[in-house]
Amino acid sequence: MNDMVSMSDRIPVTTERGERAVFCGLTSIIWLHRKIQDAFFLVIGSRTCAHLIQSAAGVMIFAEPRFATAILEERDLAGLADCNEELDRVVNDVISRRPDIKTVFLVGSCPSEVIKLDLDNAAARLSREHHGRIRVLSYSGSGIETTFTQGEDRCLQNMVPSLPSTESTAPELVVVGTLADVIEDQFRRLFDALGIKAVRFFPGRSSNDLPAIGKHTRVVLAQPFLSDTLRALSNRGALHIPSCFPIGAEGTLAWFKAIADEFHVEPSVFETVMASPLSRARAAVEKLLPTLQDKHIWFLPDSQLEIPIARFLANECGMRLGEIGTPYHDRYLMASEQALLPSAAHIVEGQDVDTQLERVRQAQPDLTVCGLGIANPLEAEGLRTKWSIELLFSPIQGFDQAADLAALFARPLRRAEKLRFTSCN
Ligand code: SF4
Repeated sequence: MNDMVSMSDRIPVTTERGERAVFCGLTSIIWLHRKIQDAFFLVIGSRTCAHLIQSAAGVMIFAEPRFATAILEERDLAGLADCNEELDRVVNDVISRRPDIKTVFLVGSCPSEVIKLDLDNAAARLSREHHGRIRVLSYSGSGIETTFTQGEDRCLQNMVPSLPSTESTAPELVVVGTLADVIEDQFRRLFDALGIKAVRFFPGRSSNDLPAIGKHTRVVLAQPFLSDTLRALSNRGALHIPSCFPIGAEGTLAWFKAIADEFHVEPSVFETVMASPLSRARAAVEKLLPTLQDKHIWFLPDSQLEIPIARFLANECGMRLGEIGTPYHDRYLMASEQALLPSAAHIVEGQDVDTQLERVRQAQPDLTVCGLGIANPLEAEGLRTKWSIELLFSPIQGFDQAADLAALFARPLRRAEKLRFTSCN
């Protein structure tokens, strides 16, 4: 159902509401646990939740996973006191088996028996019992409240009260959003060369690596789906640096430029530091242009990365944009991105899966970016797809990853081309 078209921005945004087909926030545990190396994620959920986590994790290989599911059954509804006892037992078991764990996240889900549990109180009680040696935090990854990337937003938002305060007047930069370690290292080297030395990443590699927040803290987002985390940091006094996201060569350049301006970096220093990674990134992306240029790409709402990725594929790879579906559209956070989109772009916020699939079938794009559940039926109909979840499992931000990102979209197009060639012969 179409219920609103906003034209107040340069790019029209249509809002749709209907049946959804998006993974829930539990999925974000897969990349969060990889980043925060001394955290354990305990899902309080049903067998469905356990299956989801196992199949999402199935694309990765673990020596020893740092997540598990405590399964609550219908019968547990009978006694919440028993549920709390069981929760304490499972958490204590995790802590005693894993002395390397510093933080346990209790992750709520949507079964009614879980909703009845007060996980915030349980987390506070368990933290007290462990005398601050282990921090226990909770957040919801429920499919009723979150789509899959919003799980990270909830996790980080609930960590914000644990961040220490600072009265320091020297501005410190906090980069917010989970980044692969290799990207964090690349960014740190570039900040260093720009003369921006006081830089923290949130989340860090350790759950105890918590940036201090004060009136002089500047925060910049590395991921576009962190609206609630940004609000929580702003409420603590941190100042947001608005910018587009470090996706593609030009997006990364604009992201560093916004930060450099805030930290009064000399334009000549900025140009010198950026010149080499920028030209490397542009040259690497250019090699993929013969496959990508003029191909028609369509985004179904899934990850909230759709707008920055569409901007990159249109502006740097020459792809033609169909609809840009996104599960939620934060007008403030997307303002810099929208300003760079081609004027013919059209954003659709929210999901009405049948109507949106109907439009994909009519348009017959060369490539559709969508969730796993939608990809298979579209492939069976002869349409090529790209799983949006890969954009979270792969390192895609920054100069050195621009060509890898473009290659994620080039691969299915090349495969389609080869299949066409084989079937013609
Ligand atoms: S949290 Fe809800 S949507 Fe997610 S796997 Fe569990 S039951 Fe399904």
